[in-house]
Amino acid sequence: MEGYGIVLSVLVALLVGLAAGKFWERYKLVDGRLLDRRRVRQSPHFILGLNHLVAGQVDLAIEELERAAQLNPDALELRLVLGNLHREKGQVGRAILEHQALLQRPRLNRIEHANVLLCLGLDYRRGGFVDRAVAAFQEVLKLDPNNETALVNLEKLQEDQHQWQEAYVTRQRLAQLAGPPEQPKSQLILAFLENELGLQALKENRLDDAIKRFEAAIELDARVIPAYLHLGDARLRQGDMTGAVATWERAIEVDPERAYLSLERLEQAYETLGQPERFSERCRGLIKSAPREWRARVALARHFTHRGQPSRALELLFEALEHNPHAIAIHQAIWGTLSILDLPKHLVAKYIDITRQSVFYLDPHVCLRCRYRSTELIWQCPHCHEWNSFVEERITPATDTEAEIPAALVQ
Ligand SMILES: [Zn+2]
Repeated sequence: MEGYGIVLSVLVALLVGLAAGKFWERYKLVDGRLLDRRRVRQSPHFILGLNHLVAGQVDLAIEELERAAQLNPDALELRLVLGNLHREKGQVGRAILEHQALLQRPRLNRIEHANVLLCLGLDYRRGGFVDRAVAAFQEVLKLDPNNETALVNLEKLQEDQHQWQEAYVTRQRLAQLAGPPEQPKSQLILAFLENELGLQALKENRLDDAIKRFEAAIELDARVIPAYLHLGDARLRQGDMTGAVATWERAIEVDPERAYLSLERLEQAYETLGQPERFSERCRGLIKSAPREWRARVALARHFTHRGQPSRALELLFEALEHNPHAIAIHQAIWGTLSILDLPKHLVAKYIDITRQSVFYLDPHVCLRCRYRSTELIWQCPHCHEWNSFVEERITPATDTEAEIPAALVQ
C-alpha cells in the first residue's frame, strides 16, 4: 500500500511538472503581467505583416510588424526582422540602432547573440563600414563557428579588399561545412582565388611562386581561363616561350568560346617563333569547329591586315558580321579595313546591305546570376560578387531559327 502511495505521488508530481512546463512554454511574466507567447504569432498584425512582406510592400509590413512587436516587447525575432527591413529600405542608420539596442538586452543566449551580431554585420556591410562589418562577422563566428552567412559575407568583404589569402581560408571553411554536394562550386572559387594570389606574386616579380599558384588554380578547376593566360605570361617572362605557347593553346582547348583571350598572345608568340602560319591555322580550326564564332574571324582579319592583305581581311569581317551583326568591334574593324582599301564603292554597298537590320549594341556580357551588364568580360561580378558568371549575350539574327532569346542565356 505504501509502495502504491509513492508511485501515485511521483505520478502527480510528474503531471504537475508537465503542466507547469506547458504553462511556462505558453506564458511569460512581463512587468508583473502574464503574457501569452502565442498571442504574438496569432495576432492579426503578425499575419498581416507577413502578407505585406510576401506582396513586397515593405512599409506596410513594417507598420504591422511594429504593432505585433508592441504586443510583446520581448520578441527578439520580430525586432531583428524589423531592423532588417529598415536595412533593406536603405535606412541603414535606423537598422544599426535597432540591432545595437538588442545587444543591450540581458540574458541573450549564445545563438540569439550571434543572430543579432549577424544582422548588425549585414547593416555595417550595407552601410560601407567595412572594418566594423568584418569585426561583427568574426564575433558571430566565435559564438557560432559554423555560421555560413557570416562566412560568406566575410569572404566577400575580404575579396573586396583584395585579401585573397584570407578569403581563401574562409572559402575552405565554407567548403568543409557544405560537404561534397557543394564542393565543385567551392573548388571553382578557390581556383579563382589562387589565380588572384598568382597575379599578386606576378606583380611582385616572384615568378616561381606565381607559376605554382596558377598551376594550383588549374588543378583545382580546369575552367579557370585567366590562370592559363597568366601562367603563360609567367612562363614567357622566365624565357620559356614553348611552355607559354603550350599553356595558351591548352586554354583554347578547355574553353573554345573564350579562345580570343589567348589569340592575341599566341599571334605574337608564333611571330617570334617564326611560325606565323600557325596563327591562321589555329583561327581556321576555331572557325571550323564553331561556325558562328566571330572573334576568331576578327582576329584572323586583323592578322591579314597587318600582313598587307586587307581584301582577305574584309571577307572574313563580313562573315563575322553576318554571325553577329551587333558587335561594334566588327563594324570598327570593317571601317578600318575599308579605308585602307580606299572605300571601294561595291564593298561599301555590300557593308550597307549587311548592316541594314543591325542594332548597334554595346553591352555584350551579362552576369547569369544578377543580369549585371558589362562591355568587358569580367571574372567576378561587381554587383553580386559571383565568380565566372558572365556569358556573352548574343542577339540572334532575325533569319536564325534557333531562338529569339539571347543564345548565351539559354545554356
Ligand atoms: Zn552578378
